[in-house]
Amino acid sequence: MRLQRTIKKELEFKGIGLHTGREVSMRLNPASRDTGIVFTRTDKGVKINASVMEVSDTAFATTLGNGKGKIRTVEHVLAAASGLGIDNLHIEVDGPEIPILDGSAAGFVDALKGCGLARQASNRPYLRITKPVVFKEGQIEIAVMPYEGRRISYQIDFDHRLLGHQHLDIDIDETSFAEDIAPARTFGFVKDVEYLQSMGLAKGGSLDNAILLDDKGVVNASGLRFDDEFIRHKVLDFIGDTSLAGFPIYGHFVVSRSGHSTNVKFLKHLLSSPECWELVTDISQTLPASA
Ligand SMILES: [Zn+2]
Repeated sequence: MRLQRTIKKELEFKGIGLHTGREVSMRLNPASRDTGIVFTRTDKGVKINASVMEVSDTAFATTLGNGKGKIRTVEHVLAAASGLGIDNLHIEVDGPEIPILDGSAAGFVDALKGCGLARQASNRPYLRITKPVVFKEGQIEIAVMPYEGRRISYQIDFDHRLLGHQHLDIDIDETSFAEDIAPARTFGFVKDVEYLQSMGLAKGGSLDNAILLDDKGVVNASGLRFDDEFIRHKVLDFIGDTSLAGFPIYGHFVVSRSGHSTNVKFLKHLLSSPECWELVTDISQTLPASA
């Protein structure tokens, strides 16, 4: 058990949205204890909680919203908050999408770490897995088992010479998240770009904010940040999407071929299986009496 945390001062980001291509400004503000993470579309005056119940779309990004307003591509900034153990934030954005920055969460992580974190006078409840939960859809499988901490074992299989089969097994803490996961960029295939743009997606996509792959390999002249950058980015997305539980989840996740849609379906399945987890809120369960 640990105390809840927010940021010490406000932070501002400017950039374009990956899918809308729109220039947006985003501000992260400290929030009081038990707020959770709350997005506000300042151009529409709409507030949206970072909750799995508010997910409205999962095509090529995770979108939160309702009939009054939507915010696209929330997963990287949410992963940054989750990975650094930040519980309470007000996130204001003046447009329909979170800035993509360089396609990774490194910019968010560097800024959040740089501004410092404030401890708040309330314990942070967490969701502890007590029995395995398994979700399957076609070839996609996500399971979570009891584990004291957060561990992710993830595998992907793509029909591409550079991606092929990749596997990553990692214990997630603030250091491993910041160093091994946050810098991994989103990726896409040249052959899909025309289709995506015809669907009104990836309008802001460029070699500055995504890894682009053709049949031969990586198109970006600067190459990759990690040999297995692709699977590291899938883990980043998984952390962002599962943070929509509203509580940190202690468990060992074993994930095969998942994406935003199945991450969200799995999370709903998990939350509707309360016989398989407990919400730990009592500090005496985890700390010695003298602490
Ligand atoms: Zn992503």
